[in-house]
Amino acid sequence: MTFPVPIAVYVPSLPREEHKGMYSRSFVSQKHVGVELLKKVLVDAGYGVGYCSAATVNRFRVILVSITGAMEWYRFLAEREKWATGNYKVFVGGAGLTNIEPFLWAADCFVWGRAEGFIGDLIESALSGKRYRSESVCWSDEYDRAGPYRFAQATVPYSGELYCEDDKTRWREADVGCRRKCLFCLYSWTHYPLLHNAASDGQYDLNRHTESTFLTIDFARPPRITAIDGLSERLRMAVRKPITNAALVNGLVRLAESPMPRKRIKVFNIVGYPTESEVDYEELASCIKEADARCSPSTARRGIELACMPFVPEPSTPLACCQATYSDLRGKTALRLKRYTGSGHGRWDWFSGQAWWGLEMHGTLGLASQACRLLTTRGETGDADLLRSIARSEAFWKASTAVRMATLESACNIKRYFQRYRWEDLPTRGIFGLANQRQLELLESGFYRRLGDMPHAPFRKFKPEEPEPCHG
Ligand code: SF4
Repeated sequence: MTFPVPIAVYVPSLPREEHKGMYSRSFVSQKHVGVELLKKVLVDAGYGVGYCSAATVNRFRVILVSITGAMEWYRFLAEREKWATGNYKVFVGGAGLTNIEPFLWAADCFVWGRAEGFIGDLIESALSGKRYRSESVCWSDEYDRAGPYRFAQATVPYSGELYCEDDKTRWREADVGCRRKCLFCLYSWTHYPLLHNAASDGQYDLNRHTESTFLTIDFARPPRITAIDGLSERLRMAVRKPITNAALVNGLVRLAESPMPRKRIKVFNIVGYPTESEVDYEELASCIKEADARCSPSTARRGIELACMPFVPEPSTPLACCQATYSDLRGKTALRLKRYTGSGHGRWDWFSGQAWWGLEMHGTLGLASQACRLLTTRGETGDADLLRSIARSEAFWKASTAVRMATLESACNIKRYFQRYRWEDLPTRGIFGLANQRQLELLESGFYRRLGDMPHAPFRKFKPEEPEPCHG
């Protein structure tokens, strides 16, 4: 039996292209695969589920909103006030949902993590005027900063198949999570690691079931993309990505001699960690120079496209309380690296050797975008109006970084969102992924030990508890 359509997935209107830092497409089913999966679960259970816009929300009783990244809040907020009024309940979830404190006004209910195990019960309760309760669900008027709230986990990857309208492909869930657990990684600290087909090979294999990093390169089939996530050995050790300088140099030498599919490799990196200094830039430059010198002069020249992202202290990770750098890091990596490589000619070039060249990719988040991001993850109830007014201001999103920063500095003490927090002051202190507060604090203290005078202090072991099946 199919019920009449009472449920809709909210689709924001197409954005204005000039909106800096906002997503450039309205709704991409592959990007919002979580809500598409919930839609399919509900349809399979007999519910009618459609799509709605700001103008049509009032035709439905339940509206599902997907937030897959911190900056997506702004688009949602910009339109939320213009929604047609009606007798509907708004449910917000998605991979980017962490802090909810400044957004309580915008929804009736927030859901952390994977909801496919209980979405039917949650919707059914909303339709019958009741309240479904779980530690992964928060009704806005019952929110308590102390929580505890917990990201719901899947116990097996989703076994069905989704059809993605945008690129006409079918989506099947692969392995979930990552056992490496770099300390900054929201994904790995909020997703219990699951193998798609555990029965086939038993153990979760760190070398296969993680993002490709310099620790896991298969030199017979080198990837197009890899990650180092720290300029120096000290920083990489500190965040639990133990790529030594020797491994980096050897890796670059072997890569130069390998059958790389393209003549360049994209290397993701993070800049702006606490205590980072010129010494760390110098160390990366000297590794590249050493690798280049060790390559045979006969190897074809290859390129490193360095994509640097500013460090973000993500909620529910061991680094949630850390400070972020309050300066514009966009486009600065090449300038700093070339001081130590002594080569690189243009604005973005930072190295030109016999076997390798280096280029900084342009996508680094600027200071204003970083500030807007931290406003969503560290904002409090009192920031709701500021977030609303930023969201609906076209002039703000069109302005330069300097103008946006001047606006934010005059509107609030924006620097405080970049500072180091105490756990008890953190708006997300009650929202947990795989680790509890005690575990997060111990992991954080290990991070600072390795940043300081114990760069090779051993990693604290962490084994997440197996998740309970999520049922209503
Ligand atoms: S290797 Fe990648 S996916 Fe895995 S924990 Fe580290 S950053 Fe996250």
